Amino acid sequence: MSSTNENMETIRRYGANNYNPLPVVIVRGEGVWVEDEAGNRYVDMLSSYSALNHGHRHPKIVAALKDQADRVTLTSRAFHSEPLGPFYERLARLTGKTMFLPMNTGAEAVETAIKAARRWAYDKKGVPDGQAEIVVCAGNFHGRTITVTSFSSSPAYRRGFGPFTPGFVIVPYGDAAALERAISPNTAAFLVEPIQGEAGIIVPPEGYLRAASDICKRHNVLLLADEIQTGFGRTGRPFACDWEGVTPDAYILGKALGGGVYPISAVAADRDVLGVFDPGSHGSTFGGNPLACACATAAMDVFEEERLADRSRELGDYAMERLRRTASPVVKQIRGRGLFIGIELARPARPYCERLMELGVLCKETHETTIRLAPPLTITREELDWGLDRIVQVLSGP
Ligand code: PLP
Repeated sequence: MSSTNENMETIRRYGANNYNPLPVVIVRGEGVWVEDEAGNRYVDMLSSYSALNHGHRHPKIVAALKDQADRVTLTSRAFHSEPLGPFYERLARLTGKTMFLPMNTGAEAVETAIKAARRWAYDKKGVPDGQAEIVVCAGNFHGRTITVTSFSSSPAYRRGFGPFTPGFVIVPYGDAAALERAISPNTAAFLVEPIQGEAGIIVPPEGYLRAASDICKRHNVLLLADEIQTGFGRTGRPFACDWEGVTPDAYILGKALGGGVYPISAVAADRDVLGVFDPGSHGSTFGGNPLACACATAAMDVFEEERLADRSRELGDYAMERLRRTASPVVKQIRGRGLFIGIELARPARPYCERLMELGVLCKETHETTIRLAPPLTITREELDWGLDRIVQVLSGP
């Protein structure tokens, strides 16, 4: 048995069975390319679910990590740390928001936004204590904690995990009238993905976000945009909300915020929302730690310097056009925005992902029948074509 197979066997033997990875062991990554132990190279068309918008080991972000590692790695929030201030200022410039709460993972940032919205409802809106409601969408994916799982509409995500957190109302995605009908005097917030990622790159009807934003304003309901997967240029604009000129009350950010180098997430809002927290009401030992802040600040610099949102839009249009021209009996639909593309098949997508892996293209099925394409936004046209050539070949094959 090769050491690669032994390693995969060890991972299978000891690891909880909550993932179904493709049979490849990655030992190195650089830019859009990763390499296995045997030296086979693959173009990464998944980007760790959009956490690697900047590509693998971007030199500026890795330099920031190393530089910070030579100074101080952790202070907790019991004290101030030097990189936190510049991180806030950088995030303010990018989001236009004025108050931030850093955490570590996406799910934690979602939990943070929910806590902020509930407390805002009681302290500012006058909702009776314990009665706050949050409207969410069918097909949503906001993470894996118990509260977040509580308002998932997917039986697979929920089975065996009850009892669940109350206070959530589920409406169909893309239906602004249904949102308005679901709002009651106790509604604190509407939590929404501007494009649903895990659901299979579901783009809502044009005008939906704008309508949702207007409805929220009219009813004094907070609009919480989960841009964890869609943010930082993934859809061809800095934030997917930008496509409809919508400014949410809070952006929920994660994944690419840390440049694919260090986990960091955040809620970005203003004082009227995040000002509801007082000392002791929320926190995290590692939230906003020096390494995370240094990486995130560098990642936001790179995001702007390398025009990642524009690249995503231009290359995404090109990729979508090429894929749509592919005559394939198995392709039902190509959808997406920027370099955030779903290929909906008439058959299970897994065998196609396995075939692509053999040809040097890494991507992953989402749900049964969708291939998600989300390469690093640093990808060149030539590298993209290299991947697309193989995707077209596999989709056109028998
Ligand atoms: N929200 C969205 C829209 C996501 O796509 C994800 C992860 O895929 C999350 C939240 C959860 O993020 P994390 O896995 O970092 O907890």
